[in-house]
Amino acid sequence: MKIIRSPAAMIAWSEALRREGVTIGFVPTMGALHEGHRSLIREARLQCDALVVSIFVNPTQFGPHEDLAKYPRPISHDRTICRKEGVDVCFEPTAEAMYPAGFQTTVTVPAVAHRWEGEVRPHHFAGVATVVTKLFGMVRPHRALFGQKDFQQSVLVQRLVKDLNLGVDIVVRPTVREQDGLAMSSRNMYLSPDERGRAVTLYKSLQAGAKVIRTGGTDAKTVRSAMAQVITRESTITTDYLTVCDPLTLEPVASVRSRVVLLGAIRLGSVRLIDNLLVNTPPQNS
Ligand code: AMP
Repeated sequence: MKIIRSPAAMIAWSEALRREGVTIGFVPTMGALHEGHRSLIREARLQCDALVVSIFVNPTQFGPHEDLAKYPRPISHDRTICRKEGVDVCFEPTAEAMYPAGFQTTVTVPAVAHRWEGEVRPHHFAGVATVVTKLFGMVRPHRALFGQKDFQQSVLVQRLVKDLNLGVDIVVRPTVREQDGLAMSSRNMYLSPDERGRAVTLYKSLQAGAKVIRTGGTDAKTVRSAMAQVITRESTITTDYLTVCDPLTLEPVASVRSRVVLLGAIRLGSVRLIDNLLVNTPPQNS
């Protein structure tokens, strides 16, 4: 496996392969790789001839009071996983190479970004959209894989690729979960044993909402209160949002008429967790 740190070297490697007609798959990550990342890497390995994984903790997508400094960076563990999974290039640019003096362009996707995560983390999605655009410019992939775990991010990336004609095929893969249902996340390692036990409450809350829909409920308010009830049982958990949305626009719906996404974000002590479920409405009896 090759480790590339300079953007120019990354571009040169990809361009050489593209000239030979090799399809390049790409999995962008912030490292601290777990089974969720691994499932994206494995799928990319199957779908593409050559595979690049980037490891870059992007400072511009963190707010001033967020966890940038303490974000886990177990680089040798990450490289070992990449090697085991048959990754061809681990791309590890530095922040200085990504944002050199004079850098000033920002990519924004306002309608997708303004709600939910964007409301709680105001500059987050501009940071994500900009870094993804830059990484695509450096890795020049044919296909890039993202996790449904970060649902709003996956919608934003699809929108931006379409709007800017970036020519990258975007694949979104299902959320990988722990045995009890907790969505895997690099941030789960911040949870104390006691918090870890209660962290699954978010998934249970989404499941309670999904059950209302699957048993014929159509009123979004009823779905939201079923979700909220599960969280309220845990007095130490606070809710950032629990919502029922159109999966394409991320606008909240008043009544559930077709496929919806249930989005949730909670806080457990100092740890913030997000999760989501896509839910289909039950077939209509004619
Ligand atoms: P991150 O390192 O958190 O920026 O995530 C890199 C990619 O892995 C993103 O596309 C995430 O959505 C995806 N990802 C993170 N956690 C999971 C998970 N539990 N299941 C599937 N994909 C995930």
